[in-house]
Amino acid sequence: QEIVTDVVVIGAGAAGLMCAAQAGARGRRVLVLDHANKAGKKILMSGGGNCNFTNLYTEPANFLSENTHFCKSALARYTQWDFIALVNKHRVPYHEKKLGQLFCDNKSIDILKMLLAECEAVGATVQLNTSVEKIECIPRVDAMSGEGAQVAEGVVASNSTPAKATKADKRAKAAKPSKGASAAPAAPPNDGYLLHTSIGPVRCQSLVIATGGLSIPSMGATGFGYDVARQFGHRVLPTRAGLVPFTITDQLKDLCTELSGTSVDCLVSCNGKSFRENILFTHRGLSGPAILQISSYWLPGQAVEINLLPDRSVPDWLAQQRLDRPNAELKTLLGEVFTKKMAQLLCEQWFPSKPIKQYTHAEMEAIADKLSAWQVVPAGTEGYRTAEVTLGGVDTREVSSKTMESLKSPGLYFIGEVLDVTGHLGGFNFQWAWASAHAAAQFV
Ligand code: FAD
Repeated sequence: QEIVTDVVVIGAGAAGLMCAAQAGARGRRVLVLDHANKAGKKILMSGGGNCNFTNLYTEPANFLSENTHFCKSALARYTQWDFIALVNKHRVPYHEKKLGQLFCDNKSIDILKMLLAECEAVGATVQLNTSVEKIECIPRVDAMSGEGAQVAEGVVASNSTPAKATKADKRAKAAKPSKGASAAPAAPPNDGYLLHTSIGPVRCQSLVIATGGLSIPSMGATGFGYDVARQFGHRVLPTRAGLVPFTITDQLKDLCTELSGTSVDCLVSCNGKSFRENILFTHRGLSGPAILQISSYWLPGQAVEINLLPDRSVPDWLAQQRLDRPNAELKTLLGEVFTKKMAQLLCEQWFPSKPIKQYTHAEMEAIADKLSAWQVVPAGTEGYRTAEVTLGGVDTREVSSKTMESLKSPGLYFIGEVLDVTGHLGGFNFQWAWASAHAAAQFV
């Protein structure tokens, strides 16, 4: 038997649940479909189990996209403060860990429970273990006269009262599309979508794709959203793993293995972008927040520059040590700024230790250079298996920045990570999920 509803959201993750709750609050009948056996699996595993759900300092500069202006409008209309208000409403305890990153005091499940409670409160249904086999756009019969449209609308009519304009609606209407925003869809109208699913046919007026990216396939990630986008004539920009550890060449294997578990506060740079945070040596290569951040900017074959002593001018520091303590060995000096083990290893691998007065000026320069601008060419990344996000995706130039609606197929919406919008590490990816979901929810 055919299920008829106003809105179908595919994907019960961060963006999908948020959109369902907010569209439901507007009086829309919402059905969320997910092939997984649990909603919000990535929310559960996020932030090391404590969900870094937003960032106090969210701004468009924290996002990568080929269309850098696209995210501005949605982020401005649903801010970190709006999400914090929701978290406060549900009395979810949280704290700022560092750099504006807000984490749950308890477990990530607090955020998932909150979203599910919001869905339940407005009657949005979450249907798990359901796969979508095929999607068809229902053509509008006699679009010009509108007769067929009325008949078809009768079939999918909402039994809810038309939504009153909420504050958010008004904000959305008032919001001027920012630069990079696209015009209203020019494609011909349709009468919604028919989905062939494992629970039978489902008919809806609005279809929201919230299936996320490709990272962590073991958690249910698929390229489904990209396939749907292509089916409806959208460009999908090449995807790659982001916020992901680097693997290293044999040359660096010993150093990384020996130092496995050691973390160092560094300035890491690549392609004109720099991040000041810890790097972590691992058995497989390099990880830690600074490495994850720069991985989103790195392209295969490129070098990443690591300043191991970002708080000082290394040439000046070495020159001063040479004056003050000419007989001190390099490994002793390095042992005062790094762990003893790391100092020892750096001397074994990079510059044999001797009293500092014995190094030539050229050697002093080489040491300073290595410590402040260590050039590492990663062998690759750990890929989607461990990546936190997927870069690239549905090209935002074919999606309305105001409504997240497709410019190719009216009534089709894309939200969250499936779009070519990727946040830095630190709660920005969830903030994009909330904001893009909210934007779509006002129009579905
Ligand atoms: P998702 O949350 O991935 O949801 C997509 C949903 O679609 C899933 O439920 C999936 O089962 C479903 N789906 C996929 N394919 C299909 C299909 N074919 N049919 C039906 N359903 C389908 N971001 C932060 O901001 N802070 C953090 O602390 C943080 N920690 C992270 C930790 C890890 C280990 C990972 C992997 C990511 C982390 N992220 C974090 C990123 C964040 O989880 C994602 O950016 C965010 O979940 C994207 O939301 P989404 O709704 O677009 O996609």
